[in-house]
Amino acid sequence: MEKESIFLTTREAIQAIIADFRQYDPQIILFSGVIRLITDNRIHLKREPGKNGAWLNQPGTPRMKWLEGPELVAHMCEAISHTPWNQSLLTDVCARVFQTRAEPDKDPVTGKAGIRIETNMEGFACRQCGCCCRFLDYHNQVTEEDVAVWRKSGRNDILKWVYEIRGDGQPKRHHAWVTPGTQEQAKTCPFLEKEPETPRWHCRIHDAKPAFCRQFPLNRKHAVLSGCHGFKKGLRIRKGLGRKPQGKHE
Ligand code: SF4
Ligand code: SF4
Repeated sequence: MEKESIFLTTREAIQAIIADFRQYDPQIILFSGVIRLITDNRIHLKREPGKNGAWLNQPGTPRMKWLEGPELVAHMCEAISHTPWNQSLLTDVCARVFQTRAEPDKDPVTGKAGIRIETNMEGFACRQCGCCCRFLDYHNQVTEEDVAVWRKSGRNDILKWVYEIRGDGQPKRHHAWVTPGTQEQAKTCPFLEKEPETPRWHCRIHDAKPAFCRQFPLNRKHAVLSGCHGFKKGLRIRKGLGRKPQGKHE
């Protein structure tokens, strides 16, 4: 059977890595391997058994810095954002992060360089259980590109649920889904709707949903660690990665 794969531009691959890091509790073993790779072994993490953090060396000083939980995840995301990527390095990191085969490729439409990643999604079928929409942390995943598409197509019904955050000199960020006229995050996605008299759920903005929702589950690891019900049988994936439940399909 031919392996399923997905093509990601360089930018999309970087975003997918960051989304993976943010999605779960700190993946310390993974972080440790990735930080060595992207800093050419200049920076490394030292784990403390049973703890949700790690010591980070600081080149040029004998001191180590303790980072844990969200602070460690934020540090890793920052490091990914500032890495001077080349295709070979990005391929190695994608293979580690997504626990699959990855190889340099070109966008079949534009010819731009990117990465092709095997998804290991053979056998997957969405059951429309709605779990991903209810439990994934999508609140910081709406992108400038999503917003641009909604603006262009006049989707004020979606835009009114997106709160724009402007930082001093920082790029704009978009927060979903925030109850219109407030700064309060909606308890569940306002576009998720239960089908009457069936256990299925559907997305009311299926054709216009954010890229994060369209891409879920990006691969088998993502599906398994997010508690997705789209595979029938037990899945072989490295255990010990925590799930950070928090809201996505058809
Ligand atoms: S993608 Fe997975 S979790 Fe989401 S609705 Fe489909 S089966 Fe359920
Ligand atoms: S797929 Fe649709 S219903 Fe689910 S979280 Fe995304 S926008 Fe909401």
